Amino acid sequence: MEKVIMFKPELETLSREALLEYQLGLFRKQMAYVYERAPMYKRKFNQAGVRPGDIKTIDDVQRVPFTVKEELRQSQEKYPPFGDFHCIRPEEGVRVFQTTGTTGIPVRSLLSKKDWYVNYYEQFMYFMYGYGITKSDMMFVPFNYGLYLAWWGLQAAFEQAGVLIVPGGGQTSEDRIKNIMEWKPTVVCGTPTYILFLGDIAKKMGVDLSKTNVRIVITAGEPGAQVPSTKKQIEATWGARNYDDIGSTEISNFGFECVAQKGTHAVESMFLAEVIDPVTGKSLGPGQEGELVLTNLCCESMPLIRWRMGDIVKFDVKKCDCGRTFLRLDGGVIGRADDMFQFGGVNIFPSAIENFVRGTKEFSNEYQVIAPKMGSGKHLRVRVEPSSPALSKEEMDRAVKAFKETFKFRIGVTPNVEVAKIGELPRFEGKARRVIRE
Ligand SMILES: [Zn+2]
Repeated sequence: MEKVIMFKPELETLSREALLEYQLGLFRKQMAYVYERAPMYKRKFNQAGVRPGDIKTIDDVQRVPFTVKEELRQSQEKYPPFGDFHCIRPEEGVRVFQTTGTTGIPVRSLLSKKDWYVNYYEQFMYFMYGYGITKSDMMFVPFNYGLYLAWWGLQAAFEQAGVLIVPGGGQTSEDRIKNIMEWKPTVVCGTPTYILFLGDIAKKMGVDLSKTNVRIVITAGEPGAQVPSTKKQIEATWGARNYDDIGSTEISNFGFECVAQKGTHAVESMFLAEVIDPVTGKSLGPGQEGELVLTNLCCESMPLIRWRMGDIVKFDVKKCDCGRTFLRLDGGVIGRADDMFQFGGVNIFPSAIENFVRGTKEFSNEYQVIAPKMGSGKHLRVRVEPSSPALSKEEMDRAVKAFKETFKFRIGVTPNVEVAKIGELPRFEGKARRVIRE
């Protein structure tokens, strides 16, 4: 394990009881603040018959209604452009972002000076120390700067902390590889899919990325860093450690993987994290798989209260090898509640399929899953590509057979596997959409 450094050790190593007490204090304050400032919350709390003063213990939090994406969309439709869930006026904002809209109409957010320069900075400092990054590091950011938060916040915070930034926007992937060679950054960030794609491009250019100065690859946007075979591949391609960063544009970034690489820590001094049964909404305990619910305990612009992330996770509250007591998402984000699909009576997460595809050396990193409608009598189809044109038909047949067996053994369903031509499957620079429902 690399050397452990912490941003706020006094908070990061608090006992669970003390941490819950600390979170309760912030939650009560935050609830009173949004009740006062954001009409949407006032309405919701009134309807649910719960007032800020009613929250006396951490269990009382369960009386507070959830917030979901559709409410934010409806609020912005009714009160454009920002809706009535913000706690600041537009003139108090210094930055706007919007979601990618991959799952519908995008949601806009407005951030105050304090959120952008103080709160975002602080939350990303937990990440920076967690990854073992210091002022002597240099970070290359291969990202198309726009309305989507993605790497904006992390870059701004690291820059404020003194890390030298090489902006990699507005460049082709080939140019990015050249810049990595010339500038010699020690840290690179991106989605797992794009980071691996850069690896393919480098290979074509005759560049061995494992020989560069890059020692840390931060990935976000997809579960990759917590999919064992994807992580292994990223680390081998780049000759670097791969650490997870999780968040979303609405709630911002709330979790990082530490150097112990034993799951993704939630920044519990700034976020309250809960796990619920996605169907009944009931609270679940540590070790139980369910939907992640988060509350911004420090944000002043648009704190989200009991925000349903749609991510399926499992908590581990045991102290980590790094010494932190902040809970860990065991296996990171296991899947998306809305990406999960049912087939043959089992719940299937695309990340599980990804693990098998990327664990098969005869297959490239690209794949596609075609899930037919229930009761259609059709097979689940997985499309893959050979990793090299040199592979013979016999070698591919053998790989497909082994893949089907693993799939059947681990998931309980036998898929039809189709081998596409090299380069035939779609490539993604941002979030990959690999499941097609028929
Ligand atoms: Zn740790």
